[in-house]
Amino acid sequence: MANMTPNKCPMPVQDPDVRNKNFEEVALGYTMEMAMGEAERCLNCKNSPCVSGCPVGVRIPEFISLIKAGDIEGAYAKIKETNALPAV
Ligand code: SF4
Repeated sequence: MANMTPNKCPMPVQDPDVRNKNFEEVALGYTMEMAMGEAERCLNCKNSPCVSGCPVGVRIPEFISLIKAGDIEGAYAKIKETNALPAV
């Protein structure tokens, strides 16, 4: 069953007093538990407006389903099918 909360899980980030002294990524990324919780928010819309609105056509619901199943490697591979630079 989908997580119907309208509130996104905030992305953990470096503290400003730490990040102003390094060149590391500011965003620290979700834990697996956080990612799986966010994946539960996908409603599996019939027409997948996320895919048609994605400039590189990432099959987002399939990616999210893999996250939901805990398959991080599979989810990464799914993004890479249509996007060589997913962080961009
Ligand atoms: S990610 Fe796509 S399929 Fe899932 S809720 Fe958003 S628009 Fe719908």
